[in-house]
Amino acid sequence: MISGRILLVEDDPGIRKFLRVALESQGFVLDEEATGRAGVARAATAQPDLVILDLGLPDMDGKAVIARIREWSQVPILVLSVRQAEEEKVAALDAGANDFVVKPFGIAELMARVRALLRSSASGTVPEAEIVRGDLSIDLARHEVALAGAPVRLTRKEFDLLALLARNAGRIVTHRQLLADVWGPAHEHDLQYLRVFIGRLRAKLGDDPAAPRFILNEPGVGYRFLDQAAGLAPRSTGSA
Ligand code: CA
Repeated sequence: MISGRILLVEDDPGIRKFLRVALESQGFVLDEEATGRAGVARAATAQPDLVILDLGLPDMDGKAVIARIREWSQVPILVLSVRQAEEEKVAALDAGANDFVVKPFGIAELMARVRALLRSSASGTVPEAEIVRGDLSIDLARHEVALAGAPVRLTRKEFDLLALLARNAGRIVTHRQLLADVWGPAHEHDLQYLRVFIGRLRAKLGDDPAAPRFILNEPGVGYRFLDQAAGLAPRSTGSA
């Protein structure tokens, strides 16, 4: 069982209680704060393995909390957002958060996100030279991709896109992050480039967008390479 220390920054006492019961029953140690300022301070002193951050805090903008924590820490940050706040959620991911759940959320979904983030941060401490998912293997050093043992010919940009997603397996990479990294900051709004290249990549990998094995779409936000434990089903909530 994955365990660890989680910092919860949330001003709603009902949600705090709900999460405390659920997370402690799974063996996690929980620290709680109700404001952004206290959360930033506690992140420094408690050294959590994961931060769960509500974006709607009374004293500070959620993005500012993320930016402050990111000044010194790469701790995984899972944000809690409300359904109407699509732009806020994307901005939080661009500011350095790693994933989100939308309120109201089920505990099974939240626990899947928590475990995936803790796994990816644990494996991220040693850079992998090769990433394997089922019959797909990606050799990051040699820039070689194989599917069921047969080489897959990718263009440079297709490879860069796949490698960026695979290095962040289990985490969302936003449209803007993908575009800025693969095409350069001047192209960070050229969403159509990204759609075309994701489509080509999926075709070459035999990945069906309706039943993805490798690349999951996060509508309105970005893409996610499948977590290694294959525990992340595509979101059932759609893009509403
Ligand atoms: Ca709130």
